[in-house]
Amino acid sequence: MSKRIVIIGGGAGGTITANLLARNLYRQLISGKVLINMITDRPDHIYQPGFLYIPFDKMREDEIVRRQSDLIDPHINLFVDPAVKIDRDNNVVITQSGREFPYDYLVIATGSRIMPDLIPGLREGAHWFYDIEGALKLRNALKTFDGGRVVITVGVPHKCPVAPLEMTFMLYDYFKQKGILDKTELYYTYPINRLHALEPVSNWTVPVFEKKGIKYETLFNMEEIDPVKKVLRSMEGSEVNYDLLITIPPHKGAEVVINSGLDKDGWIKTDKKTLKNEGYNNVYVVGDTTNIPISKAGSTAHFEADVVAERLSVEINGGDSSIDYDGKVVCFVETGFDEATYVWFNYNTPPSPTPPSRMLHWMKLGYNRLYWLSARGIL
Ligand SMILES: Cc1cc2nc3c(=O)[nH]c(=O)nc-3n(C[C@H](O)[C@H](O)[C@H](O)COP(=O)(O)OP(=O)(O)OC[C@H]3O[C@@H](n4cnc5c(N)ncnc54)[C@H](O)[C@@H]3O)c2cc1C
Repeated sequence: MSKRIVIIGGGAGGTITANLLARNLYRQLISGKVLINMITDRPDHIYQPGFLYIPFDKMREDEIVRRQSDLIDPHINLFVDPAVKIDRDNNVVITQSGREFPYDYLVIATGSRIMPDLIPGLREGAHWFYDIEGALKLRNALKTFDGGRVVITVGVPHKCPVAPLEMTFMLYDYFKQKGILDKTELYYTYPINRLHALEPVSNWTVPVFEKKGIKYETLFNMEEIDPVKKVLRSMEGSEVNYDLLITIPPHKGAEVVINSGLDKDGWIKTDKKTLKNEGYNNVYVVGDTTNIPISKAGSTAHFEADVVAERLSVEINGGDSSIDYDGKVVCFVETGFDEATYVWFNYNTPPSPTPPSRMLHWMKLGYNRLYWLSARGIL
């Protein structure tokens, strides 16, 4: 009987894992000894880092979307049918159509999602750029904005910890180009007592904000928004007026993870090295949905996918893999329209942002195009 691998989630982590597995297990796949079923909930694959550029008309929607069936190895069976139940005790995943997918090995890569409705008034009174619709709406708002106070506020937890900073720096350049910087105040709030979760990134940001005149408030956790009075309130009791409010809404994991009782917020207990779901030897977790205290980022999902594909391939061939995830994350960080900085870090090495340069900006733009090779497991 063939060994059945089920992968839930056709985003960055799930797709890379599936394609690497298909390559590693090619012979077993074509001989029918291994079967890879991918369950996803949409026919398209979205390159989410592209959302950052849409509000500034620097990327179009069609540039960040591909058909999932075009990205995966033809030997992988693709089912566009959302998973509704993960039953780890009986080794089966059930989908919306009622189909059952028994597995020998399961990879959960269902990502994270924004939860704007957790903050009263957010949907009515604020913008976000963490999905296509939000990014397009923000693009329209920026077109008609002619000065005032722009507040960027960060909810937790959230994916891509550097995206709020990138948005702030790009807004600065956008207003400068538009000739309204002198009529515009940028105001940044962050939930903990510094400007970024990673201390070296926070230390790097402070002088840059000060040089650009970007004001900030720390220890600010969004509580509610009054869309009529245009006021943002924090749990700490602070009130900030705004003319344009850009939020990073708090996130949760996928509904299926919560509804299947894996975790109340969707963050699956994952061994930080083996990437196995704690207590389940045949279940791996990849990407944003892990509870590992590390950045939820595409690069994290990518490096984790490398480890999971390698471990699973060895296990399927009867071996015992000793390859571990070392916590590696790599991020190019836009510091405006023309320059970017770069950070990499892992469990043992903290990040150290490099001086911003045009070359790093071009590298980020280059990767935006090369991502599709990454998703195919080629890069
Ligand atoms: C604005 C923005 C900028 C970003 N910039 C960067 C960056 O510069 N660098 C970086 O490394 N990362 C960046 N990221 C983060 C990156 O996009 C995510 O961390 C990455 O996509 C996580 O991969 P994942 O596979 O865990 O989740 P996803 O890529 O979100 O994939 C999850 C998949 O699971 C599917 N799914 C969910 N529920 C079900 C279900 N019930 N059944 C079946 N399928 C389901 C979803 O539809 C989705 O396809 C950015 C994100 C945003 C929003």
